[in-house]
Amino acid sequence: MAQLNPGVVTGENYRTLLQACKKGKYALPAVNVTGTNSVNAVLEAAAANKSDVIIQCSNGGAAFFAGKGFPDSFQAKVLGAVAMARHVHVLAEHYGICVVLHTDHADKKLIPWLDALMDHNEAHSEQLGYPLFSSHMLDLSAEDIDFNLAESKKMLERMAKMDMSLEIELGVTGGEEDGVGSDNVDNDKLYTQPEDVLKAYETLNEIGHFSVAASFGNVHGVYKPGNVRLRPEILKNSQELVQKTYGTEENPLDLVFHGGSGSEKEKIEESLNYGIFKMNIDTDTQFAFAEGVGKYVFENENAFKYQIDPETGEPTKKKYDPRVWLRKGEEAIIARLNEAFTDLRSKGKSLALDDAEREAA
Ligand SMILES: [Zn+2]
Repeated sequence: MAQLNPGVVTGENYRTLLQACKKGKYALPAVNVTGTNSVNAVLEAAAANKSDVIIQCSNGGAAFFAGKGFPDSFQAKVLGAVAMARHVHVLAEHYGICVVLHTDHADKKLIPWLDALMDHNEAHSEQLGYPLFSSHMLDLSAEDIDFNLAESKKMLERMAKMDMSLEIELGVTGGEEDGVGSDNVDNDKLYTQPEDVLKAYETLNEIGHFSVAASFGNVHGVYKPGNVRLRPEILKNSQELVQKTYGTEENPLDLVFHGGSGSEKEKIEESLNYGIFKMNIDTDTQFAFAEGVGKYVFENENAFKYQIDPETGEPTKKKYDPRVWLRKGEEAIIARLNEAFTDLRSKGKSLALDDAEREAA
């Protein structure tokens, strides 16, 4: 097995990581973060599971990272993402696992956001020889396919100079993610058409590395059971069409599973056979954080109202210290991610481990 240095992976190392996932029929959770609490919880969970991991932020998550009071809302989305990425660059290698740095959905109106992030990647690359991020997503799935692919091509041409990777979306993931997407989509659009995937392959494969967020009934958010019907065979059909048309190896496409929260476990497992290397998870880790903090607050109500407990006369400082209750949120994220690493079969498979360590894991 290939071995990589721990820390942020870009370019060839990113592709090595992704190929290992596909060959080993496992995937990495891609977790949306909004601040250092969620970033550190993801790093801790990945290290504890000896798994590599993908850390990403949405434009809203990035803006939150910069601070709700940040004077300029566009700059907040840009510099918040940069700050998040720099935080990860400083810490990741010390956690002993490999980390992919990515940004989530950018639709048509957010193309300027990606352009600005590309300026930062270029400056970073000029200075250090590698970009700040491993990859970005450009989601023009709401536009027509020709526009989607023409813009994606333009973006990938710029990225390929630094050996970065582009994630595109074909078909529509149901539900809404941070203001991008819609709850009212025709049902057939919820399933990616293999012909579109073939077209994307023909347009982008020559230019640089790309991955496809394919829609196979997946939905952002968690809805009551029965609302979502996942059809992983859609992924298989797309893979087979490209394989047959161009005589490639099995599973030539690198596929991404959006809306992983609340999905049926056996469908997740099935999708791993069809070239899924990344599963996005946001809703479930958001809930975990809230639940963890909430439980603590409800159980220690007085500490969140009084500095001296009126019932016991004791100071409550040890309970309202933010390190105590924010930690409860982190621990809950870690517990939810332990489950994700198991579901995605990435536990013990970090490429930062040597063969003996991987055997023992
Ligand atoms: Zn998504």
